[in-house]
Amino acid sequence: MKIYDITAPIYNGMPVYKNKPEKQPNVETNTNGHVTESRICMDVHTGTHVDAPLHMINDGETIETIDIENLVRPCRVLDLTRVDGKITKNDIISYDIQKGDFILFKTKNSFDREFNFDFIYLAEDAAQYLASVGITGVGIDSLGIERAQEGHPTHKALMSNDVIIIEGLQLEEVPEGTYFMIAAPLKIQGTDASPARILLLDQIIA
Ligand SMILES: [Zn+2]
Repeated sequence: MKIYDITAPIYNGMPVYKNKPEKQPNVETNTNGHVTESRICMDVHTGTHVDAPLHMINDGETIETIDIENLVRPCRVLDLTRVDGKITKNDIISYDIQKGDFILFKTKNSFDREFNFDFIYLAEDAAQYLASVGITGVGIDSLGIERAQEGHPTHKALMSNDVIIIEGLQLEEVPEGTYFMIAAPLKIQGTDASPARILLLDQIIA
């Protein structure tokens, strides 16, 4: 069985959204010569992470309420590396996406080595289509699932229809196909997102 670790490493100086200094994690390692302990101060949207509805919806659900059975399950990786700018409904309509699917979009973003201000994102019409089909979740290989859309309609279309959003995936090595996904956000209580370790197995576990 092959395991794809599609998680971004977390370190001081890593790529962060729009290169904003306040979004940099601070990893501090202290030792007294015998015992070493590190502290991390970071945004919950750092690197590979799962968003919760609270991120964009006032009084929305928080990260620990997401059912783990919706994060540890089969998923489909769709190769959209041909797409420029944004993923539209037109780009995905031919993929026979079904109710209950968990879809990960592999785009040119997976080949970026630093934050790209023109990253490929999921357009509002594609988000509305996915929500209307009734998918369980969607993941993308950028630190945001949208940009340049006033009012965040992509987030809102997905979150208001209980579609889980994963951001910051690293899919460079992963061919299009069906995988078993293990997406495990930290069990932080009451927040709008959490960093997650996300693995894809090339065998479906029943
Ligand atoms: Zn986020």
